[in-house]
Amino acid sequence: MKYEFNFSNRGPVVDVKEQLIESLKSKISRKIWELWFETFKVESVSDDLIIFTVGNLFIKDWINERYAKQFKEIVKEVTGKDISYTIKDEVIQESCTPKSTLNESTPLVRKRPVLLSEFNKEYTFENFVVGLFNEESYDGAIEIAKNPGKMNPFFLYGGVGLGKTHLLHAMGNYMLESNPDLHVMYMTAEKFTNDLVISIKNGTSNDFRKNIREKLDVLMIDDIQFLAGKDGIQSELFHTLNYFIDGQKQIILCSDRTPTQLSEFQPRLISRLQMGLMVKVNSPDNETKMEIARAFAKKNRIDLNEEMIRQIVRASDNIRTMKGIINKIAFKNAKNSVDESTVSRIVNEISGIQIRKVEDKAVEKEVFFQSLASVFDLRPAEIDAKLRTAKLSNARQVGMFFARKYMGKTFAEIGEWFGRDHSSVVYACKKVEESVRVGNAIVKKEIVQLQELLHIQNGESAG
Ligand code: ADP
Ligand code: MG
Repeated sequence: MKYEFNFSNRGPVVDVKEQLIESLKSKISRKIWELWFETFKVESVSDDLIIFTVGNLFIKDWINERYAKQFKEIVKEVTGKDISYTIKDEVIQESCTPKSTLNESTPLVRKRPVLLSEFNKEYTFENFVVGLFNEESYDGAIEIAKNPGKMNPFFLYGGVGLGKTHLLHAMGNYMLESNPDLHVMYMTAEKFTNDLVISIKNGTSNDFRKNIREKLDVLMIDDIQFLAGKDGIQSELFHTLNYFIDGQKQIILCSDRTPTQLSEFQPRLISRLQMGLMVKVNSPDNETKMEIARAFAKKNRIDLNEEMIRQIVRASDNIRTMKGIINKIAFKNAKNSVDESTVSRIVNEISGIQIRKVEDKAVEKEVFFQSLASVFDLRPAEIDAKLRTAKLSNARQVGMFFARKYMGKTFAEIGEWFGRDHSSVVYACKKVEESVRVGNAIVKKEIVQLQELLHIQNGESAG
């Protein structure tokens, strides 16, 4: 039954819904209202329940945690009773038009996206498998991508290989697709650090700040655990955060650790992170892992029986490893049906690479050669040897280019790794770069596989 109050002493019937909203507004600062209550509505009022709605689960939790007292007060104030209330979150509408942080005078003409970062085209929301274990992070990422600037900072954290970087790229792809005028930049914390340090050395740190703070609408910094113990960089990040928050520009951060595990971080930075929207990316349980593996297999059009799926899942402690194994199987079995021994071989090979990668930085060359060998179906020793066949020299050249472009190695370091002189390395890098430039699909695929195996993203160029 609909509740109607007749305040006879105040003249005409006043809309209770509006009254509730006005009363709530009087208890909340304007800034908070604009940030958090934009989607707030009074859905219905009856004599035993008032239903409010907000745009999503996070806003709901946020409001529930902080404003329970005010809600009780306004209900009592307006209705004169202690009617219970509930806040519901509306399901995110996929079709709703994303709101941009640009002002209203911005022309609606679609330009080509302003490409400040290369986003991996494979890392989209559509390609992200969503289950109970990660839906919070997925919903959060979509919400922010649709409304950049609304909730700051957006902080995603969770174990390695669980899709954090994928979600950042998905947000980037989505934002540029729906609003090509948006200035979106992705960088790792390592790049943030290097660029800052170089700018300080060159006396151009003001330009560095200006480029980041004034020219961007959205800044993403991945893997901020890298800043543990780096006090100066943390200070810079702290001020950057404040700048983005005050300007209602979106800042998005990722970490392999929870804020409380980031014990070497400045407390002010941690509390800033906690003020925004923090979402944990969880690990899938075994059943869910099997579902994801099946989904990956289906997407790659390969037929894996249950035993194979189980074997892959058993060997993978995260989604990255699982995806790496399945991609590799698909790559090697373009047409044939998959046999068990191939699966076992690839499982062992790739899970071995992943484990070593995580455990030990000192074995960088070894892991790199192992990955390179795996992509080209060679043995690591073959790459290291002096043998020359077309296949070997191709693998080496792609490897050299990769080490230069994505691992920040110098020509000298690469020369040492591969036992080649400076000019051969330069030649190899140029040659592969040219193949990439003209769109050689095979080389591109090899590079993507190396990126996957080595957990290296786009845009890591050493310049
Ligand atoms: P993180 O940054 O958390 O370490 P990534 O985002 O790099 O992990 O993910 C590792 C790999 O696993 C990527 O290839 C990514 O596409 C894939 N991946 C992770 N989670 C999912 C998911 N839920 N659905 C599809 N692919 C996923
Ligand atoms: Mg990552």
